[in-house]
Amino acid sequence: MKDKKTALNTLCVHAGELEDKQFKGAISPLYMSTSYAFEDVDVKRYPRNFNTPNQEALSRQIAALEHGEKALVFGSGMAAISTALMAFLHHGDHVVFQKALYGGTFNLVMEEFDKFGITYSFTQGPAPEDFEACIRENTKVLFLETPSNPLLTITDVEAVAGIARKHGLISMLDNTFASPVNQNPIVLGIDIVIHSATKYLGGHSDILAGAVVGSDAHIDKIFQLGKNLGGNLSDFTVWLLERSIKTLGLRVKAQNRNAKKLARFLEKHPDVSAVYYPGLKSHPDYALARKQMKGFGGMLSFELREGLDARLFMKELRLIKPSMSLAGVESTISSPMLTSHALLSEEDRKVQGISDELLRFSVGIEDKKDLVNDITRALDKVAARCADKV
Ligand SMILES: *Cc1c(COP(=O)(O)O)cnc(C)c1O
Repeated sequence: MKDKKTALNTLCVHAGELEDKQFKGAISPLYMSTSYAFEDVDVKRYPRNFNTPNQEALSRQIAALEHGEKALVFGSGMAAISTALMAFLHHGDHVVFQKALYGGTFNLVMEEFDKFGITYSFTQGPAPEDFEACIRENTKVLFLETPSNPLLTITDVEAVAGIARKHGLISMLDNTFASPVNQNPIVLGIDIVIHSATKYLGGHSDILAGAVVGSDAHIDKIFQLGKNLGGNLSDFTVWLLERSIKTLGLRVKAQNRNAKKLARFLEKHPDVSAVYYPGLKSHPDYALARKQMKGFGGMLSFELREGLDARLFMKELRLIKPSMSLAGVESTISSPMLTSHALLSEEDRKVQGISDELLRFSVGIEDKKDLVNDITRALDKVAARCADKV
């Protein structure tokens, strides 16, 4: 399954799979053993060495989907992110992060980097010049996230990857929101792609996992630290994740279609004042998204018109569940003001464009008409309630 011409869904179903030589079963057998006889001096199979049969199968599957040479799977997205970063950063080094950054990554930087003597900058915005402006003599890594959370801004991946190469830096991209179905950053010149597999790769809101993909040399460097830190996945979860990824192409394409239809519906609704979705022509980065993405993803954000209470709106929804996480087959919604950006002052939120009426919508695979009906009903209720109050 290393053939470059093999298409997405075939890779999802077959890439990396283990052959069941004993019983000829259709799926990869699960090997729970933590102890393996030496095959030869170089191969010492042990779960923390990332080389159990199931870890290797899943890693091959994810590497194939991202068009990378090699992958490693971790116990969470944050284990993947922290191990990848720390593998390339030493005391005295500097790293440039895109300003719109997943909250967990932001906390890692703010709470842990000082004690390792690692300095950092956040870009002013997502433009390539913003990254270049932050580079110092001791910069080692550029870290991108596109589409960003929660406003779905798009970073020019090829341009920033080019800047990294020009300055001899490692480029890393958190590709969680796009998934390998919609964006392959390695093809655009990025060195290391990272996933919270808890999101689209898992897709059913029942697996916590992470992954890194890159060249043999880069992944080997991450492996050297990873085996010492020990953030591995249990092989049962590894096996479940391989199973989940078999439907990744089908799921994400359905989510792309639903999200685009819902973005258009919301854009026309009089109770909605703004919609942020890179697949809308009104999105400032629409052309860039078209250039570097194969689909626009299942994530969108929208703002209720002023005076409508986002909390009440979420309470009135029956089908779409309020939730912190995202990317499941079920539609979920969250208020950045109440969750990811709750600790910021009102002023800081305003600066970042996070209004009290903003909602982040993770569009699932339910039938579009049921999602539209749910939103319409809830908006009508909230509009009536908020009109009563005036
Ligand atoms: C959820 C998420 C993470 C962290 O992943 P965990 O699996 O929760 O550790 C990192 N980046 C993005 C964009 C995410 O959405």
